[in-house]
Amino acid sequence: MDLFEYQARDLFEKHGVPVLAAMIATTPDEAEAAAREIGGKVVVKAQVKVGGRGKAGGVKLAENPADAREKASAILGMDIKGHVVATVMIAAAVPIESEYYLAILLDRSNRTFLVMASVSGGMDIEEVAHTAPEKLAKIAVSAVDGISAAKAKEIVAAAKFPPDVADQVADVLLKLWEVFQSEDATLVEVNPLVKTKDGKVIALDGKITLDDNAQFRQPDHAALVDLAATNALEAAAAEKDLNYVKLDGQVGVIGNGAGLVMSTLDVVAYAGKKHGGVLPANFLDIGGGASVQIMADGLSIILGDADVKSVFVNVFGGITSCDAVATGIVQALELLGPKATKPIVVRLDGNNVVEGRAILAKAAHPLIEQADTMDGAANRAAELAAN
Ligand code: GDP
Ligand code: MN
Repeated sequence: MDLFEYQARDLFEKHGVPVLAAMIATTPDEAEAAAREIGGKVVVKAQVKVGGRGKAGGVKLAENPADAREKASAILGMDIKGHVVATVMIAAAVPIESEYYLAILLDRSNRTFLVMASVSGGMDIEEVAHTAPEKLAKIAVSAVDGISAAKAKEIVAAAKFPPDVADQVADVLLKLWEVFQSEDATLVEVNPLVKTKDGKVIALDGKITLDDNAQFRQPDHAALVDLAATNALEAAAAEKDLNYVKLDGQVGVIGNGAGLVMSTLDVVAYAGKKHGGVLPANFLDIGGGASVQIMADGLSIILGDADVKSVFVNVFGGITSCDAVATGIVQALELLGPKATKPIVVRLDGNNVVEGRAILAKAAHPLIEQADTMDGAANRAAELAAN
C-alpha cells in the first residue's frame, strides 16, 4: 500500500524524523483555517499518490491564509496524471538552502535492502540518476545488521554530504531506518530532504510504501487505507479474508489456487471472444482448504456484483477433494437462498471427481450446470453471460 504524503509525514513524526507543522484540508475554507493555525507562509500541496506534483502545479507557496485559500481552490479538483486532487496538505514553509535525496528500499534483485542518497535532490532526481549516476550513492544494507550509527556515517560519507549537515543527515537516516523496519515498509523516500537557511535538516516530502504482507502485525495500518479508492466489493471481500480482485467483465470466476484462477481468466476471455467480447468479472482464489463458509462468502461477493451475468466455478481437487467442494457449493446455495440468482457453471476435476459430480447431480439445483472440461465450462459461462 502506498501512502499519501501527509500519512508518510505523520509516520515520520511518530519516529522522530524532523518534519514541519502540517494539516490537511478538503475545501478552500479549511485550507485558509489551517494556514491561519500554522501561521506565516505555507505551502499548499496536492495529496495524490503520484510523483511530480511540483512540476504539475500541485505544490504552491502561499503568503498568508487568504492566499492559501486561493492556492487551495486552484489545486483541489486538479487532475495530476489521472489522479483528481481531493485533499491538500497545508505545511509551514521554510526558506531552502539545499535539497538532498534519501531513500531506503527493498532491492529484490539483489535480495537486500538498499539506501540511495544524493546531495542533488529535488524535483530532478530522476534526471540526476539518469545523466549523472555518480551523484547518487547506492549502499546495500543487510537485513540482519540494519542501519547502525556507523553505517549511517558510512552512507553520509559515500554520498558526500557537506560536513555541516553530516551529523543531522546521519541521524535522519537512523530514524528513517526505524520507520522502514518498525512499520514494515518496502520503500521510505524523502525528496527533498532540505537544509534550511538556518542550517536545519528537515524532511519536506515523504513517500512510503507499506508491505501488505505484514498487515497481520500492523493493526494500526488499517486506518491508512484510502477507502474512497477501494472498490466496495473488494472491501467486502477483504473483510472476509478473500483473495478477490474486481475486473471489468461479466463472468464471475471462483477457483482454487492462484495459478488455476489466472488461467481461468485467460480461458474465459478467450471463450468470450465468440460471445460478443464477454470477459471475466473478477479474480477470486478460495485457496486450498475451501470450507462451506468460504464458498458461500465467495459466491455472495460475486453474486453481489451487478456486472456479473454468470458464474464459473473451476476447481481442481487436491488436498480439498471434489466431494467436499461440491458439498460446499450446495450448502452455500442453501445458505444464500434467494440471494443466488445467476447461472453457475461448475467444472470439477481431480481428487474424488466422480463423487463430487454425483453430489451436484443429486442436488439438481436449478442454477447449477456441470461441464466436463475447463474450455467447455468457460464457453458455456461466456454464452450464459452473453444472453
Ligand atoms: P513533488 O514534486 O511531488 O515531489 O513535491 P515536493 O513536496 O517534493 O515539492 C516540490 C518542490 O517544492 C520541492 O523540491 C521544493 O523545491 C518546493 N517546496 C516544497 N516545500 C517547500 C517549502 O516549504 N518551502 C519552499 N521554499 N519550497 C518548498
Ligand atoms: Mn518530492
